[in-house]
Amino acid sequence: MNDFTHVVTLESAKAALEEKWRPKPRDVVIPAASAVGRVLSKDIISKIDVPPFDRATYDGYAVKASDTFGATERSPIELRLAGRVVAGTWPKMVLRSGFCAEITTGAPLPRGADAVVMSEYVVPADGSVTCYRAVSPGENVTKRGSDIRKGQPVLRRLKRLNYLDVAVLAAAGVDKVMVRDRPRVAIISTGSELVEPGARLRPGKIYDVNATSLSESVRACGAEPIFLGIVPDRFSAIKAAVSKGIKATNIVLISGGSSVGVGDITPGAVASLGKPGIIVHGIAMKPGKPTFIAVVKNKPVFGLPGYPVSALMVFDQLVADYLHELSGVPRSPRRIVPAKLASRILSAKGRKELVPVRLVKKNGQNFAEPVLKGSGAITSLSTADGYIEVPLEREIVDEGEVVEVKLFEGVDHT
Ligand code: AMP
Ligand code: MG
Repeated sequence: MNDFTHVVTLESAKAALEEKWRPKPRDVVIPAASAVGRVLSKDIISKIDVPPFDRATYDGYAVKASDTFGATERSPIELRLAGRVVAGTWPKMVLRSGFCAEITTGAPLPRGADAVVMSEYVVPADGSVTCYRAVSPGENVTKRGSDIRKGQPVLRRLKRLNYLDVAVLAAAGVDKVMVRDRPRVAIISTGSELVEPGARLRPGKIYDVNATSLSESVRACGAEPIFLGIVPDRFSAIKAAVSKGIKATNIVLISGGSSVGVGDITPGAVASLGKPGIIVHGIAMKPGKPTFIAVVKNKPVFGLPGYPVSALMVFDQLVADYLHELSGVPRSPRRIVPAKLASRILSAKGRKELVPVRLVKKNGQNFAEPVLKGSGAITSLSTADGYIEVPLEREIVDEGEVVEVKLFEGVDHT
């Protein structure tokens, strides 16, 4: 039986890859209107004051505040009407003492005016108005630049834009932004037994899980998955698919056939595409041992195990950080929850073991219950809240021992 000759730790696997390839983030300019979810490459500095002029906060009458001093319900004052200012126009008048101008919400304050009396407190007559309320300078006026000041940074570099942020960009008149280019990630499923969900399941076939789970994992890192389809276990077919992935994307993920058995032709097919080729084959991790890393035409190719749970775990441990670094989308600092182990774990010696667990509360205490029987059980993984890492040198973790549960990102079972 073939076996792995050079199994290395996850850390040395990453170090070996990084000698040949390092993630280099790139920038791209896109319309601000479609920038939700993207990460800013530069601070956004406003080129204008927002609002760009002093404006009326309410419908009413623009006045000199001092003209209204002393006005009350019982002793109103009279002001002469100098005209009308509506939103969208620029007033040419200069308001003199004893005068007012009718004004609509959002209209610029005429020169000479410094406050607005709301229409509720004013009774207009022919050519004049009676004002029943005093206002102080600045009252019911939104000052120029009070929202955003010209030259002020409105959004900072590396901010991931949400819909409120793009509203701010609109207010500042920004229509294009420079953001991190989203890394494009090719996803290839290999296995002559695989068919797409929805297709007829003929004898001996199973549905492809990895295309879906890896695509969504890639998206969660702020990258763009590009599924290149299911490829049968044929050297030429795998070679062609990987070659296409290398041309069209930044990173290739290929699952299945990654081990060293007779049916495992993926590493050879990838290696045939050029130098330096395979850099690592075999990682001291469970699940995840049959993993390989290659670099072809300066692009990394990650060969993930076919078992869906293994593929996801390897993605999480090996690939995700690189995608986050390229996309600029920060990895949510993993919430680590201490819990008592509910049942003993026997772990493979010389391999780091990742054990998916469910968190259960009993008498106010967290317990971690291992959920998996074998690495093929995707449905049991979907009931897990996270996993614990059993280090290389440990063989037994006892029931009742306090362990650290690393929660899966964005998975909420509460
Ligand atoms: P392999 O790594 O190709 O030896 O596959 C290991 C196991 O995972 C086999 O039972 C495969 O049928 C299964 N498998 C491989 N790829 C997938 C996939 N994309 N979706 C679901 N199961 C898969
Ligand atoms: Mg296979």
